[in-house]
Amino acid sequence: MRRRRRGLSLGPATCVGLLLACGLAGEATAYVRYRTKPPADGGLGQPYAWGVASVDVVGYPSGLPNMTSDQISNAMSAAVAAWDKTDSTNATCSYLKLNFAPAAATAIPPAAARDHLNQIAIRTGVWTDICSRLNDGSDDCHQPGELALTTVWSRSCGEIVEADVEVNADVASPMQFMWADLDVNMTSGLHDLQNALTHEMGHFIGLDHTCALGPGASDGEVDDLGNPVPDCSDATIPEMQATMYPSSEAGDVTKRTLSPDDHAGLCSIYPLGTTPMSCGGQQSSGCAVADAGGHETSSPEHRHGQRWPVLLGFVAALGSAISLRSRRRR
Ligand SMILES: [Zn+2]
Repeated sequence: MRRRRRGLSLGPATCVGLLLACGLAGEATAYVRYRTKPPADGGLGQPYAWGVASVDVVGYPSGLPNMTSDQISNAMSAAVAAWDKTDSTNATCSYLKLNFAPAAATAIPPAAARDHLNQIAIRTGVWTDICSRLNDGSDDCHQPGELALTTVWSRSCGEIVEADVEVNADVASPMQFMWADLDVNMTSGLHDLQNALTHEMGHFIGLDHTCALGPGASDGEVDDLGNPVPDCSDATIPEMQATMYPSSEAGDVTKRTLSPDDHAGLCSIYPLGTTPMSCGGQQSSGCAVADAGGHETSSPEHRHGQRWPVLLGFVAALGSAISLRSRRRR
């Protein structure tokens, strides 16, 4: 089963230009896990988790005009490290080891496909021309407004077997996302690469968004407490700064650092003192016969994709407000 989560998107659908009105305090939302498609007879799908304790990730550090290869590589490495057990905070509760290695700056990243290579790639071509063919014969193409995208392959029981991260660096797009390391380049309008990649690495390990962009967009998903995933329109400022909040904007670096709920999600899925088991922590004979070789089923992401016209409407209408928010964050 392949599941593609629309990664960070541009700009919030809520709280635009009205930061005070959106609340400055409040309880953070709980974490949400990726799940397989729900069974036909009802109930929840299987939660996603890697079936191994150590996962390799290769980054392709080229393609961004405002960043050197070293800067790109460092941003990728830091984003991976945020979820790795060698982080001092994670070390107290998680066993998951993530091993980042940069490819040569001249290396060309392969397509996001089930090829047994977990990668982070910068896509400089036309973003919306990147498509893959689904089993039903339809094409699943990247959507306008996506800053980045993570595709996760799992067995039918939820065991993650591969994940690929792609960054939208399509300068020919009307959106023209420009990436930088905002520690060294604070030019207005730039998106922080480490910020976006830290979010995508959350998907990489099996986490889903903390809230849904658009009314009724949660598709019946629930958080770790069993509560329906809320609409993002109710998000407080701290909630909007959580790594797994689904949208970001130029100038945002808040998602570089895991929030307590992001951290709780990591440590819940990969708790220290346990060993990974296939099938999302459950021993199941179903995993032995599941196809992990790239067999793609009709993706739940088709339902998520239906939200995009709504979101794009927000983006088009809120351009000036997005700029205002960028300035106010600095
Ligand atoms: Zn996302």
